[in-house]
Formats: sequence, C-alpha cells, structure tokens
Amino acid sequence: MSNHSIHEKPTPLTTPLNIGIAGGGLLGRLSAWQLARQGHDVALFESHTFDHPKGACWTAAGMISPLSEIVHCPLPIYEMGMRSLEIWPRWMQTLQNDLNNMADSLAETNTPLKFAHLDSEHSLYRQAGSLVVAHPQDWAELSQFRADLKQKLSSLNPSHQTASAARPQFEARIEDCNQQRLAVLEPALEHFQQGLYLTQEADIDNRRLLNRLLSLLKALNVNLIENTPVMCEPHIITTLHSNRPTAHTFDCVIDCRGLGAQVKNDELSADRTCKHMLRGVRGEVLMVQSSEITLNRPVRLMHPRYKLYVVPKPNQHFVIGATEIESDDMSPMSLQSNLELSSALYTINPAFSEARIIEQSVNCRPAFMDNLPRVQSQDGLISANGLYRHGYLLSPVIVEDVLSQLTSLMRPTTFHAQPIS
Ligand SMILES: Cc1cc2nc3c(=O)[nH]c(=O)nc-3n(C[C@H](O)[C@H](O)[C@H](O)COP(=O)(O)OP(=O)(O)OC[C@H]3O[C@@H](n4cnc5c(N)ncnc54)[C@H](O)[C@@H]3O)c2cc1C
Repeated sequence: MSNHSIHEKPTPLTTPLNIGIAGGGLLGRLSAWQLARQGHDVALFESHTFDHPKGACWTAAGMISPLSEIVHCPLPIYEMGMRSLEIWPRWMQTLQNDLNNMADSLAETNTPLKFAHLDSEHSLYRQAGSLVVAHPQDWAELSQFRADLKQKLSSLNPSHQTASAARPQFEARIEDCNQQRLAVLEPALEHFQQGLYLTQEADIDNRRLLNRLLSLLKALNVNLIENTPVMCEPHIITTLHSNRPTAHTFDCVIDCRGLGAQVKNDELSADRTCKHMLRGVRGEVLMVQSSEITLNRPVRLMHPRYKLYVVPKPNQHFVIGATEIESDDMSPMSLQSNLELSSALYTINPAFSEARIIEQSVNCRPAFMDNLPRVQSQDGLISANGLYRHGYLLSPVIVEDVLSQLTSLMRPTTFHAQPIS
C-alpha cells in the first residue's frame, strides 16, 4: 500500500483529465467506473475481450472474508478488509442507482436491463456471514482456527484501528455453533456437529458485478479497447497488437494489468528487491450445479490437507475452491486437484455427488513476494497490483487509494514566495 492512510477520502478533481487504464479486470473496471462518474475522459485497454475476461477476477469465488483471512495474513489485510466491508454496500447502492439512471443509454447499447428484478431474486452483494465447519476427526483444526482467530483479534493495536476494525468483541463477530444452530443457519449442513459462524463476512456475485460494470462503462462513454495488450510508461500507453506499436498519451496512466504487469527476473534492475517481484499463485476451482442443495452463505471446511470452500451463486450454482500452488502455470486443472475438491465437497453433503460439473477454471493470483498489495505512483503513472487472493476483499480500499494518489499527482503545486533577505 501507499503512504496514504486508509481513512483518507479522495477529493474529486475539478478539472476533467484524460486517463488511460491498462487492464480491464477488477481494479481496471472499478477505477474506470469511479473516474468516469467524476467526469474524467477514460480509455480502458484490455488484452482479451471484456465479455469473457481472462483475469483472475473472473475465476475468483468473490468472498469478502476479512475474519477468515486474519488467521493467515498480516493485520493490514484485515483492517483494509473491514474498511472494504463498509464501502461495498455504498458502492452497490451507487451502482444500482447509476444503472437505473442510465437505463436509456444502456438501451441504446442493446444492454438487457432487467437488473432490479434479478437483484431482488439473488443479491449481487450479500452480507450473510460465512460458516466454518469440520468433521469430528478434524475438530482439532477447527479449535486451532478459533484460537488463532481470537489471538489475532485481541492483538489488534488500538492506536492503529480504523473505526470499522476497532478492537472487536470476539463474541460479536464469531458465534460458536452446535448442531441445532447449524441446522437453522444451513439445513444442508445439519449433520455437522460443530462450527463457527463469522457473522460479518460477505460475498459478491463477481461475474455479474463485472458485467454490470461493463454496462455502466459503456453508458458512461468510457473508451473500451479490447483484444489489445499494452505496455505502460508515465503518461503513455503503448498498444502492442500490431507489428507497429502505437503510443497513446494521457494526463495519467493507471496500470491495472494484474499478472500481465509481471517483469521477468532478468529485466529487474539491481535496486529492485525480491519483494517487488510479481508472481502468480495458481488457483483451481470447480463450478457445479445441484438442484438438491441450497446454501445461503459461503461455507469453509477445515481439513488438515486442503481447505475447501463452497460459495453459492445464482441458479443453484456453487463455486468450489480453491487450490493454492506456487506456480504461474495456467494449464488445465489436474486430476488430483479435481479429486480433492470433489471428494471434500461430497463430505459436506453427499447430495453433491449428483451435482453436474459446469466448469473447471484455473487462474493465477497476482501477488508480490510478501503477499501485500501495492499502489505506487510517479508523475504520470499509478500502478495498483498484488491483490493476491484478496481482490474482492481489498479492491474498494485500493481503488480509493488510486483516486487519492491521482488527486495528489494532479493537484497544481502552490508556490509560496519567500521574502528576499
Ligand atoms: C481461484 C481464485 C479464487 C479467488 N477467490 C477470491 C475470493 O474469493 N475473494 C477475493 O477477494 N479474491 C479472490 N481471488 C483474487 C482476485 O481474483 C484477484 O486478487 C483480483 O482479480 C486481482 O484484480 P486485478 O484487477 O489486479 O487483476 P485481474 O483481475 O487479473 O485483471 C487484470 C486484467 O488485465 C488484463 N491484462 C493483463 N495484461 C494486459 C496487458 N498487457 N494489456 C492489457 N490488459 C492486460 C487481463 O486480461 C485482466 O483482464 C481469487 C483468485 C483466484 C485465481
């Protein structure tokens, strides 16, 4: 992250700017939306198509789970995640208002617009908490997770807390569940005898969000340039899709290329340490459909070897994930991963054995060596990257930081005349 405090509110710039954004994934679309709403001229370059993105954002499960993450991640991830939990509902409201207000322009672009109706059936953003369960032989894992969670939460330094991440009452955020309570929350989990209910966690229907953002970007007249891989420099985006590279000049360039911004080892200058190297962390997920099971929130299964989650999506779809392998290999899912995910899923509820496999996806999470995100700026260029497995968890805070850094870069310098002595 930058030096900017995560409390800082970006002050919108009054003069419209000409902004070029590289990468039409999660950060690129959210940044383009926020900037176009402020009246800036935005061009968004994407190496693939906007309708079928190839970025990690499309493969992701869309969980917004700061509490689950606190156990394995540094505290700033939790603090930023809690702040994101405040921003997401506001953004979702703005998104819905924008869609309603722009219905006419969207109709002109032939975008189907029955969103309000669809949203009432299955919410785009849901804050219904998440459940962590374990089979009896793995209760030690669950106890350890609970103990780690409690210890991490109590270690939060009061002087570094945001309002939302104020030293939390453990009991207010984490509920110990017995079999009866689990059966009330999730009837499909009634055979589990113990679990934890993380009451504040949320999840987002990520693919629908990305599609909605695309519709809005069209309505806001963002210049959408697809099938066009680019390179970024201060003030310049160079398109690489033809034999002749073409340079486009902007007041500022925002680099949101995720793993596409990876610099090869031999290109790293001597002053850049390992910490700054971007790497891919392979993740494999299954999407299944089952009409026999209903879940109302994400569920995690504690297991000594693989930690499985199931995230319910509309139309009785479920995303099952995810492996985490230190590799940027994008080849198809391995048989072993498929077997592990499928068999763990079966133990959550045997009715999943009749589920149909709709999709097997593989992607790589863009991560720096310390797994922390970074927003870095210099005159004419802002780079936001390294969201690792926390893209949906952190993107509101990261995008606010991008906007705030843009404001600082573009603010005219005020000179104070010094008296001549
Ligand atoms: C299996 C899996 C599960 C995940 N689950 C979750 C989850 O539950 N919750 C969560 O918070 N996060 C999750 N994540 C992480 C999240 O998906 C990423 O952190 C997030 O997508 C990163 O956003 P980004 O915009 O930086 O990159 P991306 O989403 O990868 O977008 C980058 C975009 O840039 C484009 N691009 C690349 N190179 C170029 C170029 N040269 N020119 C133009 N365009 C280019 C790409 O095509 C892509 O569209 C998961 C990730 C994976 C892989």
